[in-house]
Amino acid sequence: MLPRERQNRIKEMIQEKENMKIAELSKELDVSEMTVHRDLKPLIDDGIIVKTFGGISLVQERSNKVSNSEECVFCSRKINERMAYRLILQNNKIEMACCAHCGLLRHRQLGDDVIQAICPDFFKQTTISAKLAWYVMDTSLHIGCCHPQVLTFEWKEHADNFVKGFNGNVYSFSEAIEKIFQKMNGHDHGCSKHH
Ligand SMILES: [Zn+2]
Ligand SMILES: [Zn+2]
Repeated sequence: MLPRERQNRIKEMIQEKENMKIAELSKELDVSEMTVHRDLKPLIDDGIIVKTFGGISLVQERSNKVSNSEECVFCSRKINERMAYRLILQNNKIEMACCAHCGLLRHRQLGDDVIQAICPDFFKQTTISAKLAWYVMDTSLHIGCCHPQVLTFEWKEHADNFVKGFNGNVYSFSEAIEKIFQKMNGHDHGCSKHH
């Protein structure tokens, strides 16, 4: 088998099994473990798989992108890509939350285990770093995900303009992550008129 054929075979196998040992791959492909490592390199570089202890794991985001049937890690709601908040963790796992509401609460739970988090800009639908995003809460426009609702914006100016039109407050990441936690734990009495 050519390296390219082996790589396709590896992709097939990992998509089916999700986790595999290097020894297992070496046996399946009938090549040395060193050759397996060489074959894996471009797949790792492409972000299709990640190295784990003694083996490899499928990067879930890629494989499930089309199916769009994932559930929120926090509230089990069905994920809507337009709102999804993704958490990339120390062990290279990716967790998906239905919206910034759940994303921030989950982020707070995991703390330093989160290497990176990404979310969509509400206006442009581009992917932005959650830590650099601006968060709008208590707005009168309802999107229909979790309550209290949290919207994410790349630019503070956009968030400020949004609030001018639809009310609400703008927060930075560090403010928003505490604010949503307080709201969920009843330390904030400012928003009781919403159910
Ligand atoms: Zn959720
Ligand atoms: Zn939600």
